[in-house]
Amino acid sequence: MAELTPSFAMSAHPDRARRLAEVATLLAHDENLPFDPVVPPIYQTSLFTFRSYRDMEETFSGRARRPVYSRGDNPTVMEFEKRIAQLEGAEASRAFSSGMGAISATVLALLRAGDRVLAVRHVYSDTFRLFQRLLPKFGIAVDYVDGTDAEAVIRGLSTARMLFLESPTSMVFDLQDLPKLAAAARAHGVVTVLDNSWATPVFQQPLLHGVDLVLHSASKYIGGHSDTVAGVVSGSAALIQQINQTTYSMFGAKLSPFEAWLLLRGLRTLTLRLPRHEASALVIADRLRQHPMVSRIHHPAFSNHPGRETLLGSTGLFSFEVDERVDVPRFIDALQLFRIGVSWGGHESLVVPAMASLHQTPDYNALARFSVSPRLIRLHVGLEDVESLWSDLERALTQETL
Ligand SMILES: *Cc1c(COP(=O)(O)O)cnc(C)c1O
Repeated sequence: MAELTPSFAMSAHPDRARRLAEVATLLAHDENLPFDPVVPPIYQTSLFTFRSYRDMEETFSGRARRPVYSRGDNPTVMEFEKRIAQLEGAEASRAFSSGMGAISATVLALLRAGDRVLAVRHVYSDTFRLFQRLLPKFGIAVDYVDGTDAEAVIRGLSTARMLFLESPTSMVFDLQDLPKLAAAARAHGVVTVLDNSWATPVFQQPLLHGVDLVLHSASKYIGGHSDTVAGVVSGSAALIQQINQTTYSMFGAKLSPFEAWLLLRGLRTLTLRLPRHEASALVIADRLRQHPMVSRIHHPAFSNHPGRETLLGSTGLFSFEVDERVDVPRFIDALQLFRIGVSWGGHESLVVPAMASLHQTPDYNALARFSVSPRLIRLHVGLEDVESLWSDLERALTQETL
């Protein structure tokens, strides 16, 4: 596969400038709030009372929608949900106390015993654990497929109830052809769910390409400051209603008003942060690609896969593989600006060696034939000065070779 240069990367997408402009303006304003504050208030209350018997009855009968109790609706959380629905082009969104809260609630609301999920290999590690450890207890089975191979995915649809995508995937950043897979799934009556945490709704709007439900770990770029754990799911009013009436209200993984407020605050700068993460990550990925000790780069901008076409940009998270001359543990310890830690999407640069993180999921490689190289290293490129980050990496690579 021919490699593309970063100057040929997603920044050349014809829809990109319009999208960044439209989102920047949308995120600067909140409208129709009582007293017209520029920032929505934090409704730190568990309970909303009724003025009369009739008021209560109208709400409970479904004739009026208003907050009743914060395990259901809370106005600050609703502001966040409204914002995400606008960004995704969705009829409705539902926020959760974590990305996994959103993923587990979505999967369990839509599936029943006897169903099969067709999931792409390299789904996020806890999504994989949910699929391996919890779904079998409900009589739901999961099959894994190489999502880059559209024909293989389509072949797997005949036995599936749900197609679970993540484009790009975790750790190795494999892409999927969303319009093609979503259309095939629809033809088979299979509901398509996609984890869009990497691209954010700024750089990829899966619902516009036929996906039914789009999920985010809002803990990543949406929050953007490594101070909040949250999740959100968006789609048609009917599907969100199905989640609302089952797993959302009964599992109780609701988002807190303060965290919704932090997420609304994080969103304000999303269109400023993303291009900076993107540009710095492209500089570093391109230099690593040319480094003699680096054998492989996993970054969507360096891929020719048709899954690129729905991405209007790339972000700060990618991985690379070092050759056997590099002592991985010593390389990791020699880094000073990249802190060793999971998660990503905040202001800070982070590094995760696959060699250590795969201990978390010992069944990952064997069971799902995921084949993540132990020489793979994932970077999150933060908002620091890119030349300082590069010096740190280059020094550690040169110093810690065998
Ligand atoms: C972090 C992450 C999640 C889980 O989100 P939490 O907010 O940590 O529960 C899901 N999917 C992807 C791709 C992630 O990176």
